[in-house]
Amino acid sequence: MRYCIFSDVHGNWEAFEAVMAAFAKENIDQHIFLGDIVGYGADPHACIAELRLLKPQVLIAGNHEWGVLGLLDMEYFNEYAEAAVEWTRNLLSKEELDYLKSFRLFCEAGDLTLVHGSLEQPARFKYILDSDDADLSLKLLRTPLCFIGHTHVAGAYFFDEGEAISTKGAKIRIEADKKYIINAGSVGQPRDGDPRASYVIYDDKEKTAEIKRVSYDIKTAQKKIIRAGLPAWLASRLAEGR
Ligand code: ZN
Repeated sequence: MRYCIFSDVHGNWEAFEAVMAAFAKENIDQHIFLGDIVGYGADPHACIAELRLLKPQVLIAGNHEWGVLGLLDMEYFNEYAEAAVEWTRNLLSKEELDYLKSFRLFCEAGDLTLVHGSLEQPARFKYILDSDDADLSLKLLRTPLCFIGHTHVAGAYFFDEGEAISTKGAKIRIEADKKYIINAGSVGQPRDGDPRASYVIYDDKEKTAEIKRVSYDIKTAQKKIIRAGLPAWLASRLAEGR
């Protein structure tokens, strides 16, 4: 089975469109979405509509879904994220909000555990930014593999002789006796210095998880953010990938 796993689209239609075109060439059996379809970008309607057409087998809720739905205290967000959450909430229809409500916080199925931020109380949306953060979630992990998003930084952590180690390689070979946390990065607002959209292909026969990147029309996405009256930083950071 080949899985396409992606996260943090954040209302960036140009990035989502480019990634969807890349998915079409990947021979995918299942799609898994790890949260934050909205927030930051200017096209929440188009991104939600496309996600509904794609019908991923699993839809995980991100902090932006929870923010828009009023399930997360606004103190959680910085000023830019809060502005984006408020802007998005005012724009969405009841039907769109009901769709976001159907996303789950956490999923454990077969070899896979799926969550937006971390396994430590998924509803608190903590960040796994380094090996110390990964250590706690790896200890809580009950399946061989966990896929996450949230930091917008693609990469992987695994336990090696009881110690959490990070790997920067794009292709991760899954070894039978190890546990892994793999971050799919972000489709619509990468923050790892590479501005291209990010996603992961997991192949459970080949035992590999590969982080892939695709270029998209950043200039158009930026223009739309400015035109929508969203904070200018949300546009400029796209070109820098941070
Ligand atoms: Zn996000």
